Amino acid sequence: MPETDSALSTTMTEARRVMEICNACRYCEGFCAVFPAMALHRDFANADLNRLANLCHNCKACYYACQYAPPHPFGVNVPQTFAILRDESYRAYAWPRPLAAAFARNGTVVALTTGLSLALVLILTDSLTAPGILIRAWTGRDAFYRVIPWAAMSGIAAITLLFSMLALTMGGMAFWRESRPDRPVTGRAVLRGLHDALTLKNLGGGGHGCNDRDGAFSTLRRRFHHAMAYGFAACFAATSVAAFEAYVLGLPAPYPWLSAPVILGVVGGAGLLVGTSGLIGLKFTTDPTATAPALLGADLALLALLWFAAATGITLLLFRASAAMGPLLALHLGFILALFIVLPYSKFVHAIYRTLALIAR
Ligand code: SF4
Ligand code: SF4
Repeated sequence: MPETDSALSTTMTEARRVMEICNACRYCEGFCAVFPAMALHRDFANADLNRLANLCHNCKACYYACQYAPPHPFGVNVPQTFAILRDESYRAYAWPRPLAAAFARNGTVVALTTGLSLALVLILTDSLTAPGILIRAWTGRDAFYRVIPWAAMSGIAAITLLFSMLALTMGGMAFWRESRPDRPVTGRAVLRGLHDALTLKNLGGGGHGCNDRDGAFSTLRRRFHHAMAYGFAACFAATSVAAFEAYVLGLPAPYPWLSAPVILGVVGGAGLLVGTSGLIGLKFTTDPTATAPALLGADLALLALLWFAAATGITLLLFRASAAMGPLLALHLGFILALFIVLPYSKFVHAIYRTLALIAR
């Protein structure tokens, strides 16, 4: 199998050292998918370590159970080592590579700046082309398109979404090329991988939940993660249904309260707000010894962007019949477009790599 250029990484060396100790110990075998997959190896190639790191969901159970964790001289810290290695793997598999470098380490600033600048561009463009239109109350089926022309809105959204999906697919293919097992992948392996990914099984730790903040078990992180993941899925479904209604049925937005796009959007937006708020809170209250503090900014960037996308969407829904609709629509679109651009260069790729790693184990 080809190796990634992260072969030079000192994190890779540390991950290999830690896995060799764990492979001799095997105390944590029942905690998650990492340890049974680890036990299949005597040596660890870089691709094996990248796959194991993406199998880890950072529940921290193995850190608090470990007799070799700091201050023991072995200094075994699997969650922290794998968190750093995962981050390196995101950049190693990203496409196109130069953009991955641009998003490294300064995720919060890049994500928020992108969102705000895109919104600003939309506001300025609209104000320059049709002064006054942005701050008027509009009603009727095509109210949104009176503020931002249909062609501009659809064109920008389609280009950024297609780019995002292409970049995510290329990254996923690069990860799979290195991570796929030598044996044929069965349908059972695919179903088991999808089941474990969709139920966030690894976030169950040893069965009692995660060590969200400290050595005590809790299911908070798993619940917040579920709210965020399924909230995102509901919002994506809302957008897909709206696109079908607009382009196939000829029924443009905005839609009535009791319509599929609005109901899915409200449920999804609420899930995103609850999930991202909870996960942001846990980021600041967790024991930092089992985390990688240098990655906090990039992690918060994605959570913040998702939060703002959901918050502006729900605010737009509430005030869509008022004169605030225009600025709110521009702001919401700005955050959505920024989200599309940032997704392939954020922690979001863990959802794809982890699912593939669960299938390949
Ligand atoms: S994390 Fe510690 S206790 Fe668990 S398998 Fe590794 S060395 Fe053993
Ligand atoms: S998922 Fe949890 S138990 Fe498994 S390696 Fe990661 S932190 Fe350790």
